Amino acid sequence: MTIKLHNTATRKKEVFEPLDDKNVRMYVCGPTVYDRAHLGNARPVVVFDVLYRLLRHTYGAEHVTYVRNFTDVDDKINATALARQEAGAAGTLEELVRERSNETIDWYHADMDALGALRPNEAPRATDYIAQMVAMIKDLIAKDFAYAKEGHVLFRVRASKDYGKLSGRSVDDMIAGARVEVAPFKEDPMDFVLWKPSDDGLPGWDSPWGRGRPGWHIECSAMAADLLGESFDIHGGGNDLQFPHHENEIAQSKCAGHGFARYWLHNEMLQVEGKKMSKSLGNFFTVRDLLDQGVPGEVIRFVMLSTHYRKPMDWTEKKRVEAEKTLWKWKELTAGAERLRRPHLEVVEALSDDLNTTLAISILHEKAREAKTAEDKSRFLATLEMLGLGEKWRDGVSVAVENAFALVTLKERFLAIRETARSTKDFSEVDEVKEKLDAAGVEVRMSKEGVDLIPKPNFDPTKLEGLL
Ligand code: AMP
Ligand code: ZN
Repeated sequence: MTIKLHNTATRKKEVFEPLDDKNVRMYVCGPTVYDRAHLGNARPVVVFDVLYRLLRHTYGAEHVTYVRNFTDVDDKINATALARQEAGAAGTLEELVRERSNETIDWYHADMDALGALRPNEAPRATDYIAQMVAMIKDLIAKDFAYAKEGHVLFRVRASKDYGKLSGRSVDDMIAGARVEVAPFKEDPMDFVLWKPSDDGLPGWDSPWGRGRPGWHIECSAMAADLLGESFDIHGGGNDLQFPHHENEIAQSKCAGHGFARYWLHNEMLQVEGKKMSKSLGNFFTVRDLLDQGVPGEVIRFVMLSTHYRKPMDWTEKKRVEAEKTLWKWKELTAGAERLRRPHLEVVEALSDDLNTTLAISILHEKAREAKTAEDKSRFLATLEMLGLGEKWRDGVSVAVENAFALVTLKERFLAIRETARSTKDFSEVDEVKEKLDAAGVEVRMSKEGVDLIPKPNFDPTKLEGLL
């Protein structure tokens, strides 16, 4: 099957031809691990997980290498470590930084596992690759693409002839439009940092330019080369990383003489109820917040897959509810199904066409309606699994999924009781059910349009039994 991918570097959908079909290689920029991942951070994880699954399906699982890094050099991580040290925590600053990063890396893995994302083959941490970064910076200086000044090393942007090509901008436009930092140690305001000095209150590593730490962009160039080789196939990340991060990665790696990535993929951003997610708008939430509210990871994943990765996606309450209903139906359909079949070819074709997950889901709706025999159902389950859905159903449904589905059923029942009460004007049953839900830790929010059942921290599903 031919895979076609939209390459940001050429702005075209291209036939994907790996350098080596026995070792297909993909690098995706991972999170800066200073806190829990927000819902937007989960989008590239789900998108590139689908691509990883498709590559594994097409080339064989053992012939694909997926690397996603952790950026654990960051001022916000340092700030938390410093605050802990000031509050009396034991250990050096480096140890406290490591402790904070370990904590957030564990959270990240747990949250992304809940979304059904496979772990990448390698998840390198920047701080384990400082030697490779220093070597690469030395090489760039030797080749005259970088210069050291006042404990900093800077990349000479104007020496890189293709700079701006990926994001489609000229260097002069970028200077006019971007907030470039003018600093006395820079030859040109566009030049960016490869290495910067650390004072005693910050983590740092010895280098030919004094004690310091790497800039963000060099991390990915050095880790990708070390783990995937100087030339590899796919590089991914969110749209917001095109400039300056990816532009800078390309400049560094190409000037060091690497072939670097051949296909660039970028996902569009996620919004919430039509608005940019931000703390000031009060619509900012993490993946963990949703999981804790009882929204199953499969539901989050399903909602994400319903929008094509190159379109902006909107997370809405309505979509969440719809996704829960659909997955509940599909779970019932595949109960007891064997997992021996190949996935539906139409779905593989849809994914092979620049990851058309939207089309894949509409095909699944059709297949679900048509599925009658045990063979149909087993094929349907195999197809769901190709999309990373339904995997948990096989080994018994996860508790979160069960609970959410129980609430969907209850909600429908509650609506029916309320309809009857409206015509008979006898609301005693409504009140009774509401009381029982309250006792089980479920808040009932009623409005003209409908009703919402929201699990509270004291939610106890065993108390729902009499109601189901
Ligand atoms: P960061 O930790 O901010 O570097 O982000 C990690 C990944 O999440 C990057 O690939 C970003 O492009 C991506 N990302 C951040 N915010 C959003 C968003 N609102 N929608 C989609 N992707 C996002
Ligand atoms: Zn990167």
